[in-house]
Formats: sequence, structure tokens, C-alpha cells
Amino acid sequence: MVIEARDGTSTTRVLLDCGFGLKETARRLERLGLEPGQLDALLVTHEHGDHIGSAYAFGAKHDLPVYTSHGTWLATAHLRGADRADVRVIAADHAFSVGGLQILPYTVPHDAREPLQFVLGDGDVRLGVLTDAGMETPYVVARLAGVDALVLECNHDRELLRNSLYPPSLKRRIGGDFGHLANEIAAAILSQVAHGKLGRVVAAHLSQQNNTPALATAALAGVLGAVPDDILVADQSDGLAWQPVGA
Ligand SMILES: [Zn+2]
Ligand SMILES: [Zn+2]
Repeated sequence: MVIEARDGTSTTRVLLDCGFGLKETARRLERLGLEPGQLDALLVTHEHGDHIGSAYAFGAKHDLPVYTSHGTWLATAHLRGADRADVRVIAADHAFSVGGLQILPYTVPHDAREPLQFVLGDGDVRLGVLTDAGMETPYVVARLAGVDALVLECNHDRELLRNSLYPPSLKRRIGGDFGHLANEIAAAILSQVAHGKLGRVVAAHLSQQNNTPALATAALAGVLGAVPDDILVADQSDGLAWQPVGA
């Protein structure tokens, strides 16, 4: 996902997670009308392959700093190889800036070494991002309070996961407190974060086996008193076109 901030004279763009290979990442950027050289940095939430992917190689190739936690950095020694990415260690609750973007990392309950999620703002409006979390916590809700737009994991429908062909151990992992957000938990988080000026809400990280866009959008729309079509879905293959944060 690319987040862009413009302040008249300058534009800042960061790529949040890089779960694909070098070519596919470049292809997906092209779909948004971007070349890798137009990015300013990469942010990596955690070491799982669908997030770190080719981040170090991509950062090294295109001369982009890679911001991630110390734990993620430690857990990914095998991926760093000879790529010599410019890694900048960040930590939960220590805000930092990349160009015109102010970025606040926060931590989440997930089975990774030191996972981070992010709230990003330009001084005017803020976008909250939450994927890869097993449960709702007061801390997570507090970090997302007041955001103007939200990208929210809706990983699975509990019933579909229960009845899926996944092995029991995997079901326990996904549905556990350090796994992934069920639609109903995402909805519970949204209900606490929602406010009158909350704009775009994007359902993300949907399981292809254990969820459907219809179930995810219905769950989120339900708590907003909206219709499912008002909720956007970040599709794994098609992604999502540019969306504004705030009015
Ligand atoms: Zn993930
Ligand atoms: Zn993960």
C-alpha cells in the first residue's frame, strides 16, 4: 500500500509492506502511476512473508530506507543477505517523520517478534492502518481513535474458518488472540473508533478461503449504519485505486 502526502511544493510517498517480489512490486506501483524512484521510504510491519517479501532487496535496489522494528530486523537476518538495505529501526509509540508524513508506529497482538502497525498523518488528516492482529485491545483502539480514514483487517468469518479444510492447528492460530481479526472483531474495533468525520473505511487482508467481501463489508457497514457498498475492499490481486483521506 502506498501512502502519499502533498503539501503544495513537495510530495512524500511511502510503501507500507512489500509482500511481493521485485518485479511484481514495480508492476503494482505502475498500476498507481508510480515508479519505485518516486517513493521516499518503505515501512515494514513484521516478518511474515506477505509483508516483508522483497522489502530489503527493493529498498537496496531503489535506494530507499526501510523502517522496521528491531524485532522484525532480528527475525529477518536470512532475508537481508548482500542487499545492504538502509534499515532504520523504529519502535512503538515513537513517532518519526518521512518528508511531510508523520508516522506513529504502535504494536499489536500478533504472532511475530515485534509487529508494528501505523497511524500516518500530514498534520491535517490521519490514516489508521491495522492488519495482522489477533484481538481487540484498549491500546489499539486508543491509537486509532480519531483517525480520518481506516484500513482494517477483516481476515475471516468465524463460521467459514470453523468449517474450512484448514488443519486444526492453523485454525487455532488464525482464530487465536495472536492471529488475525475476525470480521466481528474488526467491527467491534470500528464501532469504538468510528466518529462523525470518519471517511473511507477499507476492509483489508481478507482470507480467500475463509471470508468473502460481502461478509466483511456487511460486518463493517453494520456498525456504521452504512450500506456494504460504502466500505471499500483492498483486493489481494487487484489492490485498490488511490483514495483520499479526509474530506
Ligand atoms: Zn499478513
Ligand atoms: Zn502476519
